[in-house]
Amino acid sequence: MKTISSIERMHGSVTTLASHSLDFEDFVVQFWGVRGSIPTPGKDTVRYGGNTSCIEMRVAGKRLIFDGGTGLRVLGDSLMQEAPVEAYIFFTHYHWDHIQGFPLFTPAFTPGNCFKIYGATPPEGESMKQHFVERILHTNSPVPLKGLRADLQFNELKVGDRVTLDGIEIQTGQLNHPNTAMGYRVTWNGKTVVYCSDTEHFPEGIDENVLNLAQGADVLIYDAMYTDEEYHNVKSPKIGWGHSTWQEAIKMAEAANIKQVVIFHHDPTHTDDFLDEVEQQVQAAFPHMVMAKEGLILPVGIPQKS
Ligand SMILES: [Zn+2]
Ligand SMILES: [Zn+2]
Repeated sequence: MKTISSIERMHGSVTTLASHSLDFEDFVVQFWGVRGSIPTPGKDTVRYGGNTSCIEMRVAGKRLIFDGGTGLRVLGDSLMQEAPVEAYIFFTHYHWDHIQGFPLFTPAFTPGNCFKIYGATPPEGESMKQHFVERILHTNSPVPLKGLRADLQFNELKVGDRVTLDGIEIQTGQLNHPNTAMGYRVTWNGKTVVYCSDTEHFPEGIDENVLNLAQGADVLIYDAMYTDEEYHNVKSPKIGWGHSTWQEAIKMAEAANIKQVVIFHHDPTHTDDFLDEVEQQVQAAFPHMVMAKEGLILPVGIPQKS
């Protein structure tokens, strides 16, 4: 069983080459996909990664997965070494960059595995199960639906709902995004991680929903897709697109008294070099920050130096 002591520290972030088996004493976050909108493979994105949103939290011996972007496929391949797999999967919303890995998530096609799936009632009123069958695992998917042989249990949530898994408390909150999205606050053993993607800040002041959800968290993973300059660019403004900026991430982190903020949901056009520059700028303004990268592991409650 791997513990924090086995984690290798590289380039100011914490990474591991090891397995991600469960430890009842641990609260660890691992990033499998950190990109927004669309996968971005290529030579300019190798260090931060090109897979779309997928985060794993290993908490008190349980495995919680947040979003099913293309990073979920990679996580799934890794989990195949640990069958039978039981995990809880929470969706913020059902835009492609948060679901596209699911049709290629091998453990869902393997008998004996069990996934408890949570998310808001899908748009247009169908049930989550219908949504998965008819849209996410649509006939356009290369994988036949009949192969889906794991035990999948669907649980629909409303904003404000809480889920308790033994001692783990999961709280939901409203995000500001086209077709809406749901943020999650995970607390265990006095430590809290908040996942807020995708969301757009309000120009007139702090978003009270995000503030309430994030208040006092050890880690806030925040949709900082743009710079303020890009967001307000007169030729191509990003206002109303449902995403925020790293400057707003800092504002929220300060307002909510966050110990560590994670810059997440990178824009597809942002190269590794560009994100390195963003890192320097964020760090100068708010030193307790981390850039999300594929493979990054954060032990919760231990501040990392970048
Ligand atoms: Zn997204
Ligand atoms: Zn979205």
